[in-house]
Amino acid sequence: MTVVTRFAPSPTGFLHIGGARTALYNWLFAEHHAEYGSGGRFLLRIEDTDRKRSTEQAVNAIYDGLSWLGLDWDGDAVSQFSHAERHAGVARRLLAEDKAYKCFCTPDELREMRDAAREEGRSKLYDGRWRDRDPAEAPEGAEPTVRLKMPQGGETVIEDLVQGPVTVANDQLDDMVLLRADGSPTYMLAVVVDDHDSGVTHVIRGDDHLTNAFRQVQLFRILGWDLPAFAHIPLIHGEDGSKLSKRHGALGVDAYRDRGFLPEALCNYLLRLGWSHGDDEIISRDQAIEWFGLDAVGRAAARFDADKLTSLNGHYIRQAGDAKLIGLIMPSLTESLSGNLADDAAGRLEKGMAGLKERAKTLIELSENAEFYARTRPLALDEKASRLLQDDGKEHLGLLRSRLGALGEWNLEGLEEATRDYAESAEIKLGKAAQPLRAALTGRAVSPGIFEVMEILGRDETLGRLDDALKGHK
Ligand code: GLU
Repeated sequence: MTVVTRFAPSPTGFLHIGGARTALYNWLFAEHHAEYGSGGRFLLRIEDTDRKRSTEQAVNAIYDGLSWLGLDWDGDAVSQFSHAERHAGVARRLLAEDKAYKCFCTPDELREMRDAAREEGRSKLYDGRWRDRDPAEAPEGAEPTVRLKMPQGGETVIEDLVQGPVTVANDQLDDMVLLRADGSPTYMLAVVVDDHDSGVTHVIRGDDHLTNAFRQVQLFRILGWDLPAFAHIPLIHGEDGSKLSKRHGALGVDAYRDRGFLPEALCNYLLRLGWSHGDDEIISRDQAIEWFGLDAVGRAAARFDADKLTSLNGHYIRQAGDAKLIGLIMPSLTESLSGNLADDAAGRLEKGMAGLKERAKTLIELSENAEFYARTRPLALDEKASRLLQDDGKEHLGLLRSRLGALGEWNLEGLEEATRDYAESAEIKLGKAAQPLRAALTGRAVSPGIFEVMEILGRDETLGRLDDALKGHK
């Protein structure tokens, strides 16, 4: 059987990380079956029936976010709203088959019913008063809603692939509205019809939809349609255990991109947030496709841990190719230097990237740390660097400059030896000599190994920067 999954976001905001994780699980499940089973497809359906809250901007954020994460969908994304006529047709069919009925309750009546139910602690909010009533008794001119005749006894059981069997007594489920008084289909109807029409075999989504699932199951049954399998994944919580919010660092996927996260890192993190494969923490996309299954999705709410995500990002930065990283940081580097890059910036970055990427947890950090390679002379020094060049720092720098200037060959070993010799002769620790060099050459108090930096900058640039610092340029 070909597995068909779908991601069905409502385009009312950005693609948040909870949604991204749902999309990832659906994508992986389909990919797994495409590679290792008898076929898999992943569909994207934009649930835009709420016209007031759905925006084009939010739809684009979903496309962008999914594309950035590398979660490509099969075929075209579909708009749920564009199927409204089909949804209404299904409701009319149910009406004709006497499986649904017209309800002429006024908004006031409904409100009274709801208030009374709430007061008595009943979850069933509508009492079914038009279920068996003759429509001829309807008040004149009243526009009815169409409601489904839900089963009145027994219980509804869902064999959820994550939650296990979950049961609700049918007398807790009221006759749900399929068509509103203005003839527009409800979300509940639209989801079931679309899932059926697009052949969805597995509905994988957040467990906030579990209560909807009971009603949807009944609708599938009443329509005589095959049920998809359901897998409701626990929501993501913040580190303090409460529902995840912006306060916990739960942002849109685009914000993670802007903050210098790699999609590989975010996917790996979201994958592990609620699913496990032994003790494996670092899981490549190929491994994820091979290993992913719903049986290893946990039942407990996952906790979002921003530090863990950041450290995973550091791992993926270290793993990434140098050229790729240079491409990724170039725009921000160019912007922060107002387009004023040294002629040899690209060459230096190529040589320096191996050392730079060891030290950065985000692309923003990487870009900032790389700046000194791309700068033109004279370098501006930050406060800490300036302090390193006060008092004897500058003196040491002057003497070191003479020794380095006299070097025959310009390579890492020779530079290190000359600096060590100087520190020994001046009876100072190596750091006391290296720090003023670092300040003058990078403008900062931290950088990759300073001998590597000097080798990459080359003789002229190194000596030039040292002279600038000695002349007191700031
Ligand atoms: N549109 C719903 C949401 O964004 C998802 C519905 C579903 O997956 O069935 O939460």
